[in-house]
Amino acid sequence: MPRAFNFSAGPATLPQSVLEHAQAEMLDYRGTGMSVMEMSHRSPEFQEIIDRAESSLRKLMRIPDDYHVLFLQGGASSQFAMVPMNLFRNQKRADFVNTGSWSIKAIKEANKYGTARTVGSSEDKQFSYIPALDPAIFDPEADYFHLTTNNTIYGTCFNQLPDTGDVPLVGDMSSDILSKAYRVEDFGLIYGGAQKNIGPAGLTLVIVKKDLVGHAMDITPTMLNYETHATKGSMFNTPPTYAIYMAGLVFEWGLELGGINVIEARNRAKADLLYECIDQSDMFTGTVAPADRSIMNVCFKAPTPEQDSAFIALASSRNLKTLKGYRTVGGMRASLYNAMPLEGVEALVKCMQDFERGKG
Ligand SMILES: *Cc1c(COP(=O)(O)O)cnc(C)c1O
Repeated sequence: MPRAFNFSAGPATLPQSVLEHAQAEMLDYRGTGMSVMEMSHRSPEFQEIIDRAESSLRKLMRIPDDYHVLFLQGGASSQFAMVPMNLFRNQKRADFVNTGSWSIKAIKEANKYGTARTVGSSEDKQFSYIPALDPAIFDPEADYFHLTTNNTIYGTCFNQLPDTGDVPLVGDMSSDILSKAYRVEDFGLIYGGAQKNIGPAGLTLVIVKKDLVGHAMDITPTMLNYETHATKGSMFNTPPTYAIYMAGLVFEWGLELGGINVIEARNRAKADLLYECIDQSDMFTGTVAPADRSIMNVCFKAPTPEQDSAFIALASSRNLKTLKGYRTVGGMRASLYNAMPLEGVEALVKCMQDFERGKG
């Protein structure tokens, strides 16, 4: 069976060369006679793996020295609670932009520990666009300002970040981290589950400005306090060792490609090709306002759900997998993460054109 072009939103496709590298080291990691999975996290070999992963990520994202990089567990969903527990230190208030499902979950958790106010929402049109924001209504005393940089489910993304002044910007970057050149300095905190653009599930990345750490609410469990992990190099307890190893290989792959700017250009070329096909088609329509389209998750529909299913079946028969849209959105969603090669998008476009011409 040849490798599928896997358009899954997450866990998602990984670079083939990274999988082959891991395969080659699976039984004997560099003469240790054991797999990384079997190795003590206190061993010098693993210390070197986690140190290298961190330094590669710092290089790739140009992370300044006054930010911690934390390798955690619990998924982005745990960050919906950890962020307020750790960052609510003054007014216990935060502003949120509601761009759909993930934002809603973050708002719900923050409201357990303080006040989450919504300063912009696209709920009126099923989250098919990014709402315009008016900085005049932002809370200047908020402890943070939260947004989902890329909404994985609806296929929207912010192309411009709001100016939040002195209020730290917090970004749920789960589905577009490493996909384009963000400036880490624009954020107080960035978080994301690894399973979309970084590596296997089980690892959650947090990049947080050092001065935001150390002020957690008293109720914060030890394991949910960033300080616990920051002071122990993400090794207070057993970290997700194999996922960290894999993430490190993906970071090195990104550096070898030429860094984030090269990755971003590749991603834009892939997304442009697919959106162009959608826009020229009489069969398929995009579901998102063109100005707010994600380059990571491309959502589109055929005229009827029956045609959606027929298209998904045709695509699957051509080894183009996991194209079904999220259950509340329907239609198709093609996730074009960093590891999706251009050839995968070309094959998808060809399949769409053949379907439209009735050449199933
Ligand atoms: C996938 C996703 C999440 C949830 O991630 P988990 O790691 O499964 O908790 C949260 N936010 C965004 C934007 C996502 O894409």
